[in-house]
Formats: sequence, C-alpha cells, structure tokens
Amino acid sequence: MFDSLQDGLKGAFKSLRGKGKLTEGNMRDGLKMVEQSLLDADVSIDVVRSFMGSVTEQALGEKVLLSLKPEEQLVGIVNEELIKLLGPVDSSIEFNKDVNIIMLCGLQGSGKTTTCGKLAKLLQRENITPMLVAADLQRPAAIQQLHVLGEELGVPVYSEQGEQDPVKVCTNAVAKAKAENCKVVILDTAGRLAIDEELMEQLKTIDRKVQPDQVMLVVDGMTGQDAVRSAGAFHEALELNGVIMTKLDGDARGGALLSVKHVTGVPIRFIGTGEHLDNLEVFRPEGMASRILGMGDMLALVDEANKLVDEKEQARLQEAMEKGRFTLNDFRSHMEKMAKPGLMQKMMGLLPGMPNMGEISKMMNNSDTSGQMKRMVGVIDSMTAAERIDPSVVDVRRKQRIAKGAGVEPKVVSDLLKNFDMMKNVMTGMAGMGATEKMQKMQELQSGAMNPGMGMPKMKKSTGKRLTPKQRKKAQKERAKQLKLMKKNKKK
Ligand code: GDP
Repeated sequence: MFDSLQDGLKGAFKSLRGKGKLTEGNMRDGLKMVEQSLLDADVSIDVVRSFMGSVTEQALGEKVLLSLKPEEQLVGIVNEELIKLLGPVDSSIEFNKDVNIIMLCGLQGSGKTTTCGKLAKLLQRENITPMLVAADLQRPAAIQQLHVLGEELGVPVYSEQGEQDPVKVCTNAVAKAKAENCKVVILDTAGRLAIDEELMEQLKTIDRKVQPDQVMLVVDGMTGQDAVRSAGAFHEALELNGVIMTKLDGDARGGALLSVKHVTGVPIRFIGTGEHLDNLEVFRPEGMASRILGMGDMLALVDEANKLVDEKEQARLQEAMEKGRFTLNDFRSHMEKMAKPGLMQKMMGLLPGMPNMGEISKMMNNSDTSGQMKRMVGVIDSMTAAERIDPSVVDVRRKQRIAKGAGVEPKVVSDLLKNFDMMKNVMTGMAGMGATEKMQKMQELQSGAMNPGMGMPKMKKSTGKRLTPKQRKKAQKERAKQLKLMKKNKKK
C-alpha cells in the first residue's frame, strides 16, 4: 500500500539521521522531501500546503532541533498530523430502527456492487443478514453480479426484472424489508462513467423518497484527485455520511486517501483492500497513519486473523487455550488457512517493521509462501497423534524420522516446533482476556513497537554506538549553540 509514498517519507526521515550537527537548513531539506513525496503521491495541493504548514512550525521548534534524534521527532510530528488529516471518524453504524437503510453511490467501476457484498459480509459477522437491492439499472451485469454475491453469502437480493425506474425498485424493496422484518437494507445504485445531471437527479429522488440512514460514497482510491472532485460533487447533491475508498491494495498512490477528508469534510469510514469479500476494513486514522509511515497496524492484523476462524472455531480455540491445550493440530489448521494465496503478503504488510511491501511483496511472490505453509502442514502430518498433542516428546531421533517422512531437513522440524511454542505462548497469554482487553493488549504491543513518546518503530537493534551521558550533554550543548547561532542569523 502506497509504496512510493512510504519510500519518499522514509528517505526524508533518513536524511536527518546520523547528522552530527543538525541545522535548520538540514531540517528544511528534510521537510522539502516530505512535501515532495506528498506531491508525488498526488495529494491535493491545498492539503499539502496546510499539512506542511503545521509540520514545519513544529519541526523547526527548539524541542526538535535540540533533540538527539530529530528524525524520530519528525516521524512523530508527521504521524500526529496524518492522524489529524485523516480523522476523526466514527465508523460505527447504528441500527436502532426497524429497517435501517444504507445507500451506496459512486461512479461506475468504483466498486459499489462488490462493496455491497463486502458490507453484507461484515454485517454477517455481527449476526445481521441484510437485504441487498439491485438498483443499478444502468449496468446490465450489475443485477446478475449482485445475485451471485447474494448467493455466495446466503443473503437475500431484491431485484425487479424489466423495471426501468430505480426509485420504484428501492421503495418496493424497503416495503418488502419492512414486511419481512429485515433489519438492514443496502441499496446498490447506478453509477456513470462521469458525473452527470441525470445521475444526480436520480440519486436525489431515491434519497428523498427512501430517506436512507446512511449515504456512503464508494470511491476508487486509484483515481487520485479525480476521485476527490467527484466526492465533492456527490456530497453537494446528497450530503454524504461517509466515503468507502476501494482498491487501496493496488497501485493507489495515496493522494485521494489523504485529500478527501480535508477537501470535502466527509470522513472515510471503510477501505477496500482487495477484490475478495473479506477485503473491507473499518477505517482507523491511527492505523492508516501508522501504515503510511511503515509502522504496521496491529489492530488490523488481529482483525484479519479473526476473519480466518469462524465463531465456533474461535470458541473451541479459546477453550483449548484456557485449558492450555493448544496443540499442533490447531497450529496445522491455522497454517492451512494461511496458505490462501496473497494472505500472508497482506498480513506481513500490517506488521510493524514490515512496511515496504514493494520489496517484500516481490520477495513473497518469488518465495512461494503458501508452498512453505503446505510444507509445514506436511511436517505436522508426519508426526504421530501423540506428538501433535505433546510435541515436547519430539527428541532428535523422532525429529529425524518426522523430517524424513515429510521430505525436509530436520532443521525445518525444529523451526516449526519453535514457531509453535512461540504462538502457543502468545495465545495462552491472551486466553481469558475479553475482546476489549485483547484490543488493549494489541495496542500496547503496537505502541511497544515504537519508542516512547515518538513514532519510530524499534524495527531492529540499533547498530550505532550509544552515547555516554557525558557525550550526550556535550551534544546537547552543541545543539543549543547551533540554535542560538541560527536565531542570531535570522535576526540579521
Ligand atoms: P461498480 O460498477 O461500482 O458496481 O463496480 P464493481 O463492484 O463491479 O467493481 C469494479 C471492479 O473493481 C471489479 O473488477 C471489482 O472486482 C474491483 N474491485 C472492487 N473493489 C476492489 C478493491 O478493493 N480492490 C481491488 N483490487 N479491486 C476491487
């Protein structure tokens, strides 16, 4: 996600690193690089100006210039400003009426129909079965596409064969939902290749007649500033409650994502990160800022992991963990799920310190990750039932036997057992925690990945020598001297 923006920002921060003497000039150079990476990412010029205004003011302050690690200070400032730019946002949707209507609109091809399915899947996780309404009568395939999605998910789809008027389809669908006590209705409305009067009038009529509780605009995140302009036009006509930005998994540069809230005042509430129905995430500015800065997003990672196991299996696992009975059979079942193509790559992108998906995804694509997962499953399969339940009995001889059976080196068996132990420890440690506690724990883990007060992850151990207290004092004095000099020069 946003590889080149990430690289650009990283370059800017790196330019400040290891500078024995940090001057205002060095910092200004670094800030120029931050500005350039935002412009290259197609962020709206107004947004760049206002963003850089706030960042510059703070970055040139005494606290930053005098600090020993100015690049970390700058990461912290950029992080805070990104969060402000993207939020605040409340992604919760209230369903307090008998029938709650969500209307999706957007240009053709933005991902509306797919997003209907994704939202339905998200609601199913909350035990709500929505009714999907095929009100896109412009694109002939849209009705059929929605029926296919409905069938896949097991949710009802309302359509009227031959009806030309989408307003009628929507009002009839809502009446049917009322009659059938269906709590949520999602309207898939028509889009055009570009905004036109007729489309807007049609949407306004649906809005007036059906009075949806939520009007969400689906925006293709790859289309940059065009997307932001169209969002403005839709908002003027319909008063949007939120934006769902799709296709952020592709070559999206990040411009639309970073601009839309500032330009239109409408917050992003969900993001689409793939074609699959699971690929819809609740938007969290903190998580996104963190991902942009290459610090991962642990909460999104937990959510992805939760999607892998259904509720029944979660309950079974929870019980197994509480009783300390998490076995290699459970581990095997996880491995099998993780072998889904592309999944590992996505999860890696959410880990702190694994930000640069450009290189990493290339590596992952080349390195047949799902093949490795399958090999692990093969190793577990060549263990006896007793070994799978209690792997501590696996000694050197048994290891050799298992490796031979699976056609791998004994080291692969050792690595697998180590991974299993690690996972068991983490999972057992979290057993018994409620959902909120787990979230808190994950948040702690996430902030633990950063230096206190700052935003930089502890990706790897520093190879640079630490300063002694005496050296540190000397460096601080030196910086204070520089700052005085700078101020003097400014006055001149
Ligand atoms: P509509 O015309 O607005 O209803 O758009 P569709 O739902 O038919 O989507 C258009 C294309 O975008 C389809 O090929 C979808 O599979 C694809 N698509 C939708 N959302 C995403 C996403 O988040 N990521 C990716 N990569 N593709 C998406």
